Amino acid sequence: MPPISPSTERRPLIAANDASTASTASTASQHETALAGDFVDIERAARRAHASTTSRIASSALRVSVAACAALVAVATLVTRTSDDAGVGGSAARTRAYRFASTMSLDEQLTLLGGQVEQAYIGSTSGFVVSSTGARVPELRMNDGPQGFRAHNRPGTTTQWPCALAVAATFDVGLAHAWGAAMGGEFVRKGANVFLGPGMNLARVPLGGRNFEYIAGEDPALGSAMAPAVIRGIQSRGVIATAKHFIFNEQERDRMYYDAQVDERTMREMYLPMFEASIKDAEVGSIMCSYNKVNGSHACENSVYMNEILRDDLGFEGFVMSDWLATHSTVPSLKSGLDMEMPTAGLFSRDRLKQALEATDALGKPMLSADRIKVAATRALTSMFRAGIMDEEETIPRAIDANVRTYNDTTLARKIVAKSAILLKNDGNLLPLDPDARNKTIITFGAMCAQPWALSGGGSGRVDPGAQNVLTVNDGLHRAGQDFKWYDDHQLDQALTEATKMGDTLQAIIVCDGAGAGESLDRPRITLNAHQEPVSRFSEQFRKKIVIIVTAPGHVVIPQHANAASILLSFFPGEQAGLGLADVVFGKHAPGGKLPITIPNSENELGNFDQEQYPGTDGKVAYKEGLHVGYRWYNAKGIRPAFHFGHGLTYTTFKYTDALVETFPVDSSIAANVSFSVTNTGDRIASEVVQVYVTYPRDAQEPPRQLKAFKKIVVAAGQTKQVSLALPARALQIWSTKEKKWSNVPGEFTFHVGGTSELTTLITCDPVQTHGKDATSGVREYFDRVLEYFSFP
Ligand code: BGC
Repeated sequence: MPPISPSTERRPLIAANDASTASTASTASQHETALAGDFVDIERAARRAHASTTSRIASSALRVSVAACAALVAVATLVTRTSDDAGVGGSAARTRAYRFASTMSLDEQLTLLGGQVEQAYIGSTSGFVVSSTGARVPELRMNDGPQGFRAHNRPGTTTQWPCALAVAATFDVGLAHAWGAAMGGEFVRKGANVFLGPGMNLARVPLGGRNFEYIAGEDPALGSAMAPAVIRGIQSRGVIATAKHFIFNEQERDRMYYDAQVDERTMREMYLPMFEASIKDAEVGSIMCSYNKVNGSHACENSVYMNEILRDDLGFEGFVMSDWLATHSTVPSLKSGLDMEMPTAGLFSRDRLKQALEATDALGKPMLSADRIKVAATRALTSMFRAGIMDEEETIPRAIDANVRTYNDTTLARKIVAKSAILLKNDGNLLPLDPDARNKTIITFGAMCAQPWALSGGGSGRVDPGAQNVLTVNDGLHRAGQDFKWYDDHQLDQALTEATKMGDTLQAIIVCDGAGAGESLDRPRITLNAHQEPVSRFSEQFRKKIVIIVTAPGHVVIPQHANAASILLSFFPGEQAGLGLADVVFGKHAPGGKLPITIPNSENELGNFDQEQYPGTDGKVAYKEGLHVGYRWYNAKGIRPAFHFGHGLTYTTFKYTDALVETFPVDSSIAANVSFSVTNTGDRIASEVVQVYVTYPRDAQEPPRQLKAFKKIVVAAGQTKQVSLALPARALQIWSTKEKKWSNVPGEFTFHVGGTSELTTLITCDPVQTHGKDATSGVREYFDRVLEYFSFP
């Protein structure tokens, strides 16, 4: 057996269930460090692309079963592995873009380097890049954002979708794609062609004001599966998506000023994967650099991040635009990799750029080369060609006033509300309520049952759906034909008297609570204290009948949870909140959400973050917790949160059995295959998010139990489903700062399988030796066993 060499492949971590994540491999372009390099690069790209299609050879690897949890089943299968190198060099779109840019005058190219606020996409602060040379290069019409098309000057003309964190809670890549495609459709109908989202920063800080806008929750594996799905959805409509905010914009406080101090391994393993997957798995068209600084330089003036990482390493071919007013210079920014200044070309104005082109440094060398301008234009055009914008026969009319709402969209929004609702607890199976209960009444309590207050976030992502289109919890109950009585916050005594009077006819007391959040401010606290007192007073008599519905932007502390039988948590669900939540409350849909973040016990768990970590000291924010973000921190410290990452009940129960782990030689693109059975042990059909966590060998110095694969499945009552999840090589690797690449770690890995990250509910497999010498011996032992099996006495 030849020695097994460490894998040199760099594959993004993907959820095994996303069939469409097959890498279309944006090609590994070299960054144009030499300003004239792009031409050479494009030429080389064309040559290499040809060569690669003719010389690609599928290799094969032997799959070896080395360990199991419940039963060891040895199987030998030949796996055909196609190279994930779909060709080096530029893509067809990039080649077309470069050729096209070559026909443009300098002035024409310059129009693509910045927005035009004065001609902005009327009625919002979104961006607008003017059409260059008449109709030859169409306008770029940009708009926010992560909760749908922001048209708040024209309320009621677009859908206020569930927020990205709600979509993250579905753990459903198919639904994420549908959400992106539906929002992209609204963009097209509004006449826009650049979507300023999705957001994919990590929910590192529980107080983070924009956590609701981000699709990753607190886990890079979740984010790297969901973000590309959303992008593919948006871009399937011919709209360029924007991965934002690149990078380390995990807090709103001081966002324009702070300098994030992050080590390389933490960056690679925690914060970059979502952007990497957006490039490699979805060919995202644009990336927005953020306001903050990174290790000393502005994110929008950072050559390490924009040139070395985005271009040279990840092969990004689209354009980098600045966040609004996040450009700090002309020549240094361009040289560092920024291609487009938004919302207006100030530092990238035609005049300034022309001056820079004429200026020379002390040695008489030009400050800026015309080729760099052409490269920037080429990058914008590449994304436009790829999205089909350059090939549109007619310019899409500006339709900002159009009402683009559709029945299909609101139906999908309602479905996402139900599928993202997280049932945190359900004592005595209080939920679902019986929709046909005769002579029973429900009490709803709290202003939030009747107001649309905590249904969506504020700031650039805000969508105003028009008051007539917002459906609150009370509206949902009403539409469901339910008899209920609503009491406002100040009517507690009346509500109690009424509940007592109802006696046995009281079916449930639904208490609505929530919290708001928006851009540019972090939340002052995460406690939900609005209804602690009412809940505790109701609970003296009616604990078993209390349902708390929480709508929130992210982390919340629910101290009153012990006093309620059921808690339903919904991250900003948007305008269809009432209908989607009523569907869950009355059992039309079983709740399908799982926590994409950890729910803490108390506000003061934040105390573990010191000032240097948040909000920062002396203008610096130290990400010194490293890899220990969210549940990784709780697990490493052995602290039990109020509700675990990945947790979420439904109206049935599932049993996990027969887990089996097969590992592969280290040069395979698949590191391990985890298979197991899931049985629905209840009496109704429901979905489950099956989750695979991995604990690395101790020497790897990784946090315990990290999510590495997941899949949403639907299981009928009594049915058993076999699930098999493939973990890519990256799932068992670490970023080696010494070797500057993903590296294998020798030693024993432990795999855990279940429906939440809580250890006690997971099936934990025997440790598996995966890499190094022992992997070879594992192969040998396997062959020995096979020979033994076939040798007759
Ligand atoms: C936000 C971006 C947004 C832009 C345009 C900025 O303040 O940070 O996320 O896309 O405004 O509205």
